[in-house]
Amino acid sequence: APALSCAELKALVRTVPDFPAPGIQFRDITTLIADGPGLAATIAHLAGRVEASGADMVAGMEARGFIFGAAVAARLGIGFLPVRKPGKLPVETMGVDYALEYGADRLEIDPGAVRDGARIALVDDLIATGGTACASAALLRKAGAVVDHAFFVIDLPDLGGAQRLRAEDIGVDALMD
Ligand code: AMP
Repeated sequence: APALSCAELKALVRTVPDFPAPGIQFRDITTLIADGPGLAATIAHLAGRVEASGADMVAGMEARGFIFGAAVAARLGIGFLPVRKPGKLPVETMGVDYALEYGADRLEIDPGAVRDGARIALVDDLIATGGTACASAALLRKAGAVVDHAFFVIDLPDLGGAQRLRAEDIGVDALMD
């Protein structure tokens, strides 16, 4: 078992009020990943869950999903696929536009990195409304992947993101609320 429990990891997350806008409680993982045992245990907890899901690849969302996703994939000896902000990939991309609370955003992947029928687990630091994860799952599915699990360090359950993913037949697991 990992050396630190999820409750102990939770104590390493810093809450910053009113960032990036008034009224938002920003759950900051900078303090968690600066702690060596904290980082190691976070990756160990996530990797155990991803391994149990049977995934054969991990996709992480730019930018904090890269930190956790790539470490989990390396630990399991499976591949990592970055889900990128627009304009970053040097090849012809496949993309998805999605709505934010105010405005819109876009995510892109290299479709050549998705083997047809690959079982890809999503990994990100935090799920809030679920918009980012839902858009990523839709994009990976369009590229031919099976996406049935998503893993997060933190879930903000009041924002309904996990329910939104489950409505798309994606199982959701987080180390802490
Ligand atoms: P959403 O698409 O609404 O689920 O938002 C998830 C993305 O926004 C994640 O990649 C998070 O890193 C970031 N995010 C949203 N809300 C917060 C918050 N309160 N604290 C830290 N990060 C957040």
